[in-house]
Amino acid sequence: MTKFDADFAVIGAGFAGATAAWELSRQGQSVVLFEARDRVGGRGFARHFALGCDVLEFGGAWITPNQARVRRHAERHGIRLRPTAPIAVRRWHDGHALRLDAPASPAAMDGYRRTMDRVAEDTRRYRAGEAMDGEGRPYAGVSLAAYLARVAATPEAISQVRAWWTISGNGDPETTAATEYLWSNGYGDGDPEGMLRHLQHTLEPGTGALVERMLAASGARVHLGAAVTGVRAGSSGVDVEIAGGGTARVRGLVAALPLNAIRAIAFDPPLPDRQRQAAARGHLGRAVKIWIKARGVTVGTLATGGGEGIEWMVAEREAADGTTLIVGFGLADGGFDPADRHDVAGALYRFFPEAAFVAWDWHDWVNDPWARGTWVAMPADAPWVAEAGTWAPSGRLAFASSDYAHENPGWIEAAIASGERASEFLLKQGNSI
Ligand SMILES: Cc1cc2nc3c(=O)[nH]c(=O)nc-3n(C[C@H](O)[C@H](O)[C@H](O)COP(=O)(O)OP(=O)(O)OC[C@H]3O[C@@H](n4cnc5c(N)ncnc54)[C@H](O)[C@@H]3O)c2cc1C
Repeated sequence: MTKFDADFAVIGAGFAGATAAWELSRQGQSVVLFEARDRVGGRGFARHFALGCDVLEFGGAWITPNQARVRRHAERHGIRLRPTAPIAVRRWHDGHALRLDAPASPAAMDGYRRTMDRVAEDTRRYRAGEAMDGEGRPYAGVSLAAYLARVAATPEAISQVRAWWTISGNGDPETTAATEYLWSNGYGDGDPEGMLRHLQHTLEPGTGALVERMLAASGARVHLGAAVTGVRAGSSGVDVEIAGGGTARVRGLVAALPLNAIRAIAFDPPLPDRQRQAAARGHLGRAVKIWIKARGVTVGTLATGGGEGIEWMVAEREAADGTTLIVGFGLADGGFDPADRHDVAGALYRFFPEAAFVAWDWHDWVNDPWARGTWVAMPADAPWVAEAGTWAPSGRLAFASSDYAHENPGWIEAAIASGERASEFLLKQGNSI
């Protein structure tokens, strides 16, 4: 059986784990990192489109102006930022028909505006730290569906809110907290399209390339295809068990794991009750992100709505073969099969009936055994599952992930911040561990 002893071990080579490895190594500690996949990057996953040479992000991609840590690491490691294309053309689907002029028919426009003004007001209140709406009803504990019923949203407004939900809350609207939407909507001060303007850059060679360079520069020993199955923490150290044999004995451990992947690891002694319950429950993020190649779609077109399937699409850039690369988001809710050519082509034609569908590609994060979901989405009735306090470090063990980070959970920036905190905690423990 192989022994991988070091000062510290890190589980997971996503942004959180790479940051922890980088920070610990910088302080002169030896670090061994175990990654279950055959690649680094985790939910940052850029690869070639199935048919063609274009490198596309199948997981996290957009970098906002707030993501200072990502920008700093990108600069340090020579990773260029690519600006996103500005939106020049707009299309909406109101649930009944494709609209080229406005999100709703002239007859439905007043009701649509009333709902969206009300959502914008709630967005501002919630972002300003108000716990209640103007009528004294709490924002917390309410699902998106219940919130939309509360504000008597019109069908056309629901169609648009759901579309933006696929890139924000991204869970079942019946069970996921509406506050996920109100928070994200705040990036545009209540204007959903402002949220898109916030998504300013992507990393040119891909997110995985940045993680790779962070890890290479850290000097940590990285083991791919090394799924951790057990963690035993004792008074003299932590033993880490790897599937198929192999162990490590270390002083401290950063478990840089997605919330929904924690339950697969046996902890001895068992995790505290609250953490066990949180790991068992998990978060609800289940977006479908899909790339479509098509002809006849203008780069810079944004199309939203429809209430099912792919509800949000941006024609992002021209592919090497001259077709247009369109990124789309929907919810994995059973009605639409992202693996089915007919379903995907149908989603394209709903927004672009004049287009020619060429090909598509995607990654199934919901059934990915090392993610079990997309980015964090809080259950309306149990936000504590993903709260940073639930995953507070103790003794020799610190958790790190964007899913339960202190600030702006869900973003790559949050993963990096959580890796910094976890390593800082272990380093502070110093000789006492
Ligand atoms: C479709 C999609 C779109 C997104 N869009 C954006 C965006 O535009 N901008 C943005 O900032 N963020 C976005 N995100 C979120 C962002 O990608 C994540 O928040 C971030 O990458 C998470 O990093 P992490 O290190 O916390 O977790 P992960 O990247 O998931 O890393 C965890 C690692 O742990 C490994 N692992 C799991 N179990 C084990 C085990 N038992 N043993 C060993 N290793 C294990 C996994 O394989 C993985 O590599 C998106 C995410 C998805 C899925």
